[in-house]
Amino acid sequence: MNESFLVYHEPVFRPPSEANSVILQVTHGCKWNKCHFCEMYTSKTYSVKPLSTITKEITLLSGMHPNANRIFIGDGDLFTVDFSIILETLQLLRANFRKLNRISCYASARELNKFDKLQLVQLKEAGLDLLYIGLESGDNEVLSLINKGTSAEVQAEASLKAKSAGFKLSVMILNGIGGRKHTLNHAINSARLLNQIQPELLAMLVISFPYGFEHFKNRVKGDFEPLSQLEMLKEMRLILEHLELESTVFRSDHASNYLVFKGGLNRDKDKFINQLDHIIEHTIHVPKPHLNESRFL
Ligand code: SF4
Repeated sequence: MNESFLVYHEPVFRPPSEANSVILQVTHGCKWNKCHFCEMYTSKTYSVKPLSTITKEITLLSGMHPNANRIFIGDGDLFTVDFSIILETLQLLRANFRKLNRISCYASARELNKFDKLQLVQLKEAGLDLLYIGLESGDNEVLSLINKGTSAEVQAEASLKAKSAGFKLSVMILNGIGGRKHTLNHAINSARLLNQIQPELLAMLVISFPYGFEHFKNRVKGDFEPLSQLEMLKEMRLILEHLELESTVFRSDHASNYLVFKGGLNRDKDKFINQLDHIIEHTIHVPKPHLNESRFL
């Protein structure tokens, strides 16, 4: 690393709500890197930075952004890194950024479950607040289809353990990820998983095919029939209908979404469903599949 300049290893991803956060790359890429729908880090080889490099970068970043109050730690799942490195990174961030009030990162259920509750509590107390978890689906057949490398049961266990350690969870579900064959079970089982977890934040994104539909179809090695736009809306309605959330902030305002919803669940559930019913009723059914190729998730 150059002593005076910090160079990000591209591409860099962060959730939309981290647009104003300082980004610190503790890892490059994704250790798993095998989910069939995801191309975020396929151009990168996974690696963890040495603590000496992390320390230098934190010093540089704090000089560049002395008043920063939010840090997002990239790239992919931070919980692939040794506990001691994560802990030391958090302590360095707290020591160097005096106005910090939030540190967040991506996390996977698979890796989170390798940490015990005491370790998670220590990381929370050291300043890590918010975990972004891409659940994608609560249906095990869909999780297997997309090679997520986990199950609904593991996702529930890891999420509940993280919550009991004090973390806030922002989880993502992917509209359309099961295609026609799995749409019903994807909707009902995803709602069931979310009801179990009761996340603080829920984002519903829409599946995209950044390298083209044929590329995705080859990766899933199955008869994947994409939903039409109308079927996407119906699936979203079904998920909402089965949600029983006590106090979750819901957003469908990602670049991939057709419809922007923001509000509280269950508080705004009936309102969202009524709006969806209206749109579904007035949508002319064109059996054109949703083949959005333009965006990474
Ligand atoms: S969805 Fe997450 S875990 Fe799966 S390959 Fe992409 S970054 Fe890695």
